[in-house]
Amino acid sequence: MSQQITPETWLLIGAGGCLVGLVLIAVGLWRRRKGDDPHCRKCDYNLTGLPEPRCPECGVEITEKLIRYGTRYRRPTYALVGLILLALAAIPIYHGVGRINWYTHYPSSWVARDMLQAATFNKAYGELDRRIKAGRHRSVARALIHSTDTRPLDSRWYTLLAQAGGPEAETYFEDVLQSSDPEAGRGAALGLEQGGGRWAVPILIRALDNPMLRDVDEECNSISIADHVAYLTTADGKAYTIRPGDTKPADLDEGSWQLVQDGFRESARWPDEHHAHRALHSMMWRFGLKGRMQNLAVDGRFNIDAEIERLKAWWAKHGEAFMQGKPVPSPELITLMYLS
Ligand SMILES: [Zn+2]
Repeated sequence: MSQQITPETWLLIGAGGCLVGLVLIAVGLWRRRKGDDPHCRKCDYNLTGLPEPRCPECGVEITEKLIRYGTRYRRPTYALVGLILLALAAIPIYHGVGRINWYTHYPSSWVARDMLQAATFNKAYGELDRRIKAGRHRSVARALIHSTDTRPLDSRWYTLLAQAGGPEAETYFEDVLQSSDPEAGRGAALGLEQGGGRWAVPILIRALDNPMLRDVDEECNSISIADHVAYLTTADGKAYTIRPGDTKPADLDEGSWQLVQDGFRESARWPDEHHAHRALHSMMWRFGLKGRMQNLAVDGRFNIDAEIERLKAWWAKHGEAFMQGKPVPSPELITLMYLS
């Protein structure tokens, strides 16, 4: 039976029963007056056929002001029915409370704060995703943005914010993608790629001018290499910034140092890329504007600057029509692969 009736409805039915029960009890216990027998106002003694104007019970002198007419009585049946109803209401309440998923009723701001902790991330992600699908885009976007003063790095956080969308989310993405924080920028670009709509395209186009988003693709464990600078965070939380040719920091272990050197070799072989370009490449496919693959093993020349110029020229010519959803030619963005 609870398949059609949600736990919340059970709870509501129970609460309604409680309320009616309480009202009935109150009505039943309330002493109404009936008839027109005179009574002492102070002690309610029946003053019918009194020889003198003095209450024989409490001794007060009776004036017209001190007389109440009618005999007070209660309606115990009402109270009894109310009491039974109150007891019965416990059944649907018990039924509802036990089954309600209280997390779905948490304010979005609480759930958004759970997104900042690894242990609760997935649970919170699922719940906020559900709320977005239920149409609560704005409140989720606002909750995510106000949940933290620092920029999250996890791209899934940005995917959710992109799915929520709205003017606040757009401003936030613009800020992150124009900032000098490559880690957050990379997460934001990936988030837009995964969850953003057409509105995300101009933000990514503007981000093409941000040099911090270039070449941040080489990543092994906790190393990222951007513009041939390695950012390394060791397991014990120490952070290093290392450039090619630097000598090994004294407190850095040999294994991590080797990882950085391998990373430098990788990134030297691979041409520069740009995160906004890469995100735009997959977004364009989603809008039916197919791109091209370039195999570096066959054709090793790839110039990200030329590619960005080409993309900007396409945008200047077709951007407006694209934003209106009109058919436009594909910018044929290039994605790189290495297949020998
Ligand atoms: Zn009296």
